[in-house]
Amino acid sequence: RALTVLDERISGCRACPRLVAWREEVAQVKRASFREEDYWGRPVPGLGPADARIAVVGLAPAAHGGNRTGRVFTGDRSGDWIFAALWRAGLANQPTSVHKDDGLELTDVRVCAAVRCAPPANAPTPEERDTCSPWLARELALLPRLRVVVVLGGFGWTALWPVLSAAGYALPRPRPAFGHGAEVTLTGPHGTLTLLGSYHVSQQNTFTGRLTEPMLDAVLGRATELASS
Ligand code: SF4
Repeated sequence: RALTVLDERISGCRACPRLVAWREEVAQVKRASFREEDYWGRPVPGLGPADARIAVVGLAPAAHGGNRTGRVFTGDRSGDWIFAALWRAGLANQPTSVHKDDGLELTDVRVCAAVRCAPPANAPTPEERDTCSPWLARELALLPRLRVVVVLGGFGWTALWPVLSAAGYALPRPRPAFGHGAEVTLTGPHGTLTLLGSYHVSQQNTFTGRLTEPMLDAVLGRATELASS
């Protein structure tokens, strides 16, 4: 219930003028192949149950993906990758995510983004990241069983430090560098939390082979192992 309320509040946020203008312009102009669809054109909340022990944090919704469908990672190539991987890891009931009512259900994992609105060129500014980070903090705080955060990309990795510091976690100095397979375990008020780094599932990584399916499977396998330990 609390997550549902949070999702509704996030969906109405207009705190970043540049992103509000972009998400709404994209929703009006549309891509030709989706011109018959009603775009969401608003912030995209997270997806997954409140008893999740694993969170997956991406960068931001795609203009014609989450910004179109209204569901995180849904309807774009990045989503094809992450939901297929979650399915292979036993965390999703189907390997595809094409629209809001396609029957997708996640188990033990909550998927969200560091920035909730589609940015121009897929590139939020540091200021926009900081403006949006309280939503991420509230979302993670509403996952009482959370044990592992899989962070897709260095942008989300950087976004998490102030969120975790504010939540009472003791952070190492210097901050651990982001990398694929990076693993950091933190101690906080409710026990330990492990961060796992993965290259983002964006096309510049998946098309070039920088991120492969076995590489992503290895990180999610480690996440399920840690969550169950
Ligand atoms: Fe609000 Fe986040 Fe969207 Fe900015 S990016 S308008 S803070 S939901």
